[in-house]
Amino acid sequence: MPPIPYVNLSAQFEEEREELLAVVTAALQRADFVGGAAVGGLERALADFHGVAEAVALNSGTDALMLAMMVLGIGRGDEVITPANSFVASTASVVHVGATPVLVDVLPDQNLDPDAVERAITPRTRAIMPVHLTGRLADMDRIMALAERHGLAVIEDAAQSVGSTWRGRLAGTFGDVGCFSAHPLKNLNACGDAGFLVTRRADLAERVRRLRSHGMVDRNTVAEFGLVSRLDTLQAAILLMRLKRLPGVIERRRRNAALYRELLDPAHVFVPPCREEEFNTFHTFVVQVDRRDELQAHLAAQGIGTAIHYPVPIHLQPAAAGLGHKPGDFPVTEAQARRILTLPVNQFLGADDVTRVARAVNAFYRS
Ligand SMILES: *Cc1c(COP(=O)(O)O)cnc(C)c1O
Repeated sequence: MPPIPYVNLSAQFEEEREELLAVVTAALQRADFVGGAAVGGLERALADFHGVAEAVALNSGTDALMLAMMVLGIGRGDEVITPANSFVASTASVVHVGATPVLVDVLPDQNLDPDAVERAITPRTRAIMPVHLTGRLADMDRIMALAERHGLAVIEDAAQSVGSTWRGRLAGTFGDVGCFSAHPLKNLNACGDAGFLVTRRADLAERVRRLRSHGMVDRNTVAEFGLVSRLDTLQAAILLMRLKRLPGVIERRRRNAALYRELLDPAHVFVPPCREEEFNTFHTFVVQVDRRDELQAHLAAQGIGTAIHYPVPIHLQPAAAGLGHKPGDFPVTEAQARRILTLPVNQFLGADDVTRVARAVNAFYRS
């Protein structure tokens, strides 16, 4: 049996070879490596895609989160509420702007619990940072209502959810700023580090553009001390090409996810149900199971690649020691960390592959 890889970036290259090489060659010929034509082109395409005024291309999703908070004036003494179950970058970005991350627990679907958010609000709270984990939006009705009632900013970590919607509205377009990653492992992926943010506010976008490039307003004028967070022109050219392919990628991933739902035995495998309000793009397909580590080994022995997003919750990482948490603080997150397993759902898997994985999972529990 051939292996079923968790990700397959080589297959992506083979599928796109001609188009990709043409795009890269053209970018190399133009030789406008920093701040070149493709960067502006990508920003317009991303703004159009999201139906917002502004998109700003950046070198990573983490910098998008940091810069969003910087231009919203969030810093020392401010609290930002964000989930304990996320990739570490959401919490780290809050720390990097000098603010205090206030972690909260999640729901069975792994996304931020709005009741926990409400309980965590203090006079120092400045923003909520929901993470739309796995390609599924957090409950943006409740989160936006809380933000409005308490006068809080909303920074969406949509790094895993480009193209996902909640009541027909795209991830990243609810809050003040939506932050995205185009890391090679995301659904809209570059061939290296990449990210962007979207916003309706031209003032915020303009300041992010300044801050991403040394704070310069022109060649000889530094308005404020900035960073180097620009997206390479080469990556912008690749992303511009791949943005056109994104709907197809999402369709194939959704087809694979739908087949898993049909085949996996619900007596042994919990798959968070899709709510009516959501359109999920399945950046990852995460199930919750007993004997997770044994199952993962059982699948690995059959050449089936899986992953765990994430085995150690942020509040229990060594880096978070200063936040003063202990095991038991976020019971849902911690229970999920022991039970979650990410099955391969990438767009290069066919129905036969998904069927093989699902049968292998079911067989493990039936034997
Ligand atoms: C990938 C990811 C990020 C960070 O993106 P980078 O581009 O790697 O900086 C942030 N948050 C979440 C939830 C992610 O999955």
